[in-house]
Amino acid sequence: CGVFGVIGVCDAANFVALGMHALQHRGQEAGGIVAYDPEHGFNSARRFGYVRDNFTDPATMSTLPGALAIGHVRYSTAGSKGATAIRDVQPFFGEFAMGGAAIAHNGNLTNAAALRRELIERGSIFQSSSDSECIIHLMARSIQKNIPERMKDALRRVEGAFSVVAMTRTKLIGVRDPLGVRPLVIGRIGEGWALSSETCGLDIIGAEFIREVEPGEMVVIDEKGIESFHPFDRRAARFCIFEHVYFSRPDSILGGRSVYETRRQIGVELAKEAPVDADLVCPVPDSGTPAAIGFSQQSGIPYAMGIIRNQYMGRTFIEPTEQIRNMGVRLKLNVNRALIKGKRVILVDDSVVRGTTSRKIKDMILDAGAAEVHFRIASPPTAWPCFYGVDTPERAKLLAANMSEDEMRDWIGVDSLRFISLDGLYRAVGEAAGRDPKAPRYCDACFSGDYPVAPSDKIDQGFEM
Ligand code: 5GP
Ligand code: SF4
Ligand code: MG
Repeated sequence: CGVFGVIGVCDAANFVALGMHALQHRGQEAGGIVAYDPEHGFNSARRFGYVRDNFTDPATMSTLPGALAIGHVRYSTAGSKGATAIRDVQPFFGEFAMGGAAIAHNGNLTNAAALRRELIERGSIFQSSSDSECIIHLMARSIQKNIPERMKDALRRVEGAFSVVAMTRTKLIGVRDPLGVRPLVIGRIGEGWALSSETCGLDIIGAEFIREVEPGEMVVIDEKGIESFHPFDRRAARFCIFEHVYFSRPDSILGGRSVYETRRQIGVELAKEAPVDADLVCPVPDSGTPAAIGFSQQSGIPYAMGIIRNQYMGRTFIEPTEQIRNMGVRLKLNVNRALIKGKRVILVDDSVVRGTTSRKIKDMILDAGAAEVHFRIASPPTAWPCFYGVDTPERAKLLAANMSEDEMRDWIGVDSLRFISLDGLYRAVGEAAGRDPKAPRYCDACFSGDYPVAPSDKIDQGFEM
């Protein structure tokens, strides 16, 4: 998901809509905005579909007045799937003794099922199936006198990954979990402030990037400025390495690193680790593009657009049902036949999850007359599900959890298939010595099975690490 907030600029909801539009790649199922204005109080709009179709018309935007607003773009990883219910669309709102508050959450809470059971037993009435709603109920039960303090109480009880953007009547609040698994950045816009999942959300509104919210930090922003708190026990950060590989936009800066440059560097590492003689290096667009450029630069094999993407389709993986996902590949990608015919082609993609995409692309490329097809993948084999906010399927459906690399090559049906090593990936994100197994700097659980936060709900349900 993507979260965004603005304080101190007139018609904040318009800026939030723009920020959400820039973060649309983080969630395409639905979006919502809550705005506050002293005269009209809290107002919200929550809709299915793209930001551009829902939050551009004056009729909607005029219902969201005020200089303080937050927004959320949703991609379901917890709660109802496929047919998302509108009640699961964030931000969530709660009315407390000291006034209302709204919150938007990116990430996934790993103890939400246990918390929900406990809260329901004690009388909480849940409105949605979302894990994030627990935060509102925990805040309602806190005995603290103000909302930021209640939020600290609530967030000390949740486990897992969270980047939260919240608002009261006077404050914009941003928090990252102690490991800082999901991103969150602070920007300055005129006399006001913005919070965004990624820096590309600041760029679109012309905000200046100030800094990241630190892992484990809470920032409370009002007209007096920013106050910073550290409500959690300090721990070594474990940012999601997959944000660098796929999830974030290439024009964003994460942890001081250009996402584009990291992806290009992954391609360089891949070309060193798994060279192959061929005529062309082609990305599977768009997610494989920067790595393909790096692969081409390192190998000296020409880069070319062997697959053309229809720009009017969204991200395939994010389409929640299997059927739509299967159609998705063909609706989204087509082979550039004139270029491919008779050529030995290296295809670079970001990841293999179920293998559906790779297999279909191989069919299309061979059908177009390619002489050889070699897959190079910009992440290690995805052998474990993510429980921190990226929607990977259960282990049984993960190709790499069930097959060796050679078996995957044969199942996909290509001449060769190689993945970047975990060390190679760490080198590309700037860790010259590779991954330190005693203290890895990133979360890489979907590749390593090393979960930095025990997925306790899943363990209760029988998941074996
Ligand atoms: P597959 O067809 O192997 O299940 O899916 C892999 C493709 O899905 C890749 O091309 C990748 O670009 C895309 N993808 C989109 N969203 C995600 C995601 O959240 N996780 C992963 N691992 N891949 C994703
Ligand atoms: Fe990111 Fe993978 Fe960790 Fe999930 S398991 S937070 S996708 S690195
Ligand atoms: Mg892709």
